[in-house]
Amino acid sequence: RQKNAKITAQRSLDIFVFNIQQIRGMTIESHIQGLDYLTELGFPTAFYSVYDNVDEVIEEIERIGNMRGELDYAIDGAVVKVDSFASRRLLGSTAKYPKWAEAYKYPPEEKPTKLLNIEINVGRTGVLTPVGNFEPVLLAGTTVSRATLHNKDFIDEKGICVGDTVIIRKAGEIIPEVLSVKEHAENAVPFEFPSVCPSCGNPVTHDEGEAAIRCTNTDCPAQLTRHLIHFVSRDAMDIDGLGPAILEQLSDEGLVKSPADLYRLKAEDISSLERKAEKSAQNLISSIEKSKENELFRLVFALGIRNIGLKAAKIICENFATIDDIMNAKAEDFEKIDGFGAVMAESLENYFSLDGTKELIADLKSLGLRMKPSQPKNTGGLFEGKTFVITGTLPTMTRSEASKLIEQNGGKTSSSVSKKTSYVLAGEDAGSKLTKAQTLGVTIISEEELKEMLSME
Ligand SMILES: [Zn+2]
Repeated sequence: RQKNAKITAQRSLDIFVFNIQQIRGMTIESHIQGLDYLTELGFPTAFYSVYDNVDEVIEEIERIGNMRGELDYAIDGAVVKVDSFASRRLLGSTAKYPKWAEAYKYPPEEKPTKLLNIEINVGRTGVLTPVGNFEPVLLAGTTVSRATLHNKDFIDEKGICVGDTVIIRKAGEIIPEVLSVKEHAENAVPFEFPSVCPSCGNPVTHDEGEAAIRCTNTDCPAQLTRHLIHFVSRDAMDIDGLGPAILEQLSDEGLVKSPADLYRLKAEDISSLERKAEKSAQNLISSIEKSKENELFRLVFALGIRNIGLKAAKIICENFATIDDIMNAKAEDFEKIDGFGAVMAESLENYFSLDGTKELIADLKSLGLRMKPSQPKNTGGLFEGKTFVITGTLPTMTRSEASKLIEQNGGKTSSSVSKKTSYVLAGEDAGSKLTKAQTLGVTIISEEELKEMLSME
């Protein structure tokens, strides 16, 4: 991902070439022959050997496993392959995997270390997450000193106490995790999960059937900062220069209490913060100002509604003409949207029915943020709210001409048939989509019928 080639060059990257994919002017009949040829040409290859019985293969896997720690690069397994290409062709492959190769994964490296303390982080949605700090230990190539303890249940089930010696490992060789308690500390007392939010001091709630313990105080500063970080992020309002450090300061100083307050900031507010020059303060104000013109879906995503990602935010904005329509919609309206399930629909209704949300939207509106999609939904068309799927070859129109015609009349087109499809426009040689429409009982129409609906004939 590093785009500066000079920096990349300093990183002493290396490579192992493990296969010849294609070759001309020469025939290779086995994997070993290919690897030997690569070595001969001077390409670095990982070590390899050939065996003619499975016991020796198993021995080799064990040998490699034992020398893992001594290699100057990390490995997580060994691959066993059939050497002869002729045999490989005979064995063939499934839809996903060749039948002539198998990867053996070594169990992740495990190490004991001491749990020094447990800190509680408050996330954007108010969830309290316990994080363990350990005595640093070298694990699969990196030093590990922190790992998430997930939630209260995880700590209780494993009986984790501060001061304990715990076994940690790297899940998937990347994320460190606590496997178990190896030995309790002397006079170990079970960790008591806080009953109040460490950030705002409000009592926390524990929903039944949910592992998460949550701070539901909408004014909680920890949530506010994280909420602001999400609000200004690239896929959301994309406000350049508003990094986490500045947002934290703005919230600590009480200058910003909600995302709307960002739009009330003046250059002097920002230059009053530590190490912020006047010029950069002015630039920041301009980028905040510029974000008012953002597409509505950015704002909808920026609100940080539970279960609503960027793609869902875009789809919502394609289905409603203004933010008011979105706010007034009920769960059942959201559920009519293709791909939206009950969880998302309820999440949306809940969020938009909150007084805090109504206030925030009213604020943002009065501050001049764009509240309509730039391409408003076609309203009033004959096909408003109708979804079409086009399949097969139509007698006179191309499929794109047909979909244009549908969209001009307020309809939408989709590529897959579901219960939410209003019509399937079928032409000659229509295949599986037509069958699916018949199974689901979706109305099937011809090009002629489409034209009749629009009184074109
Ligand atoms: Zn709180």
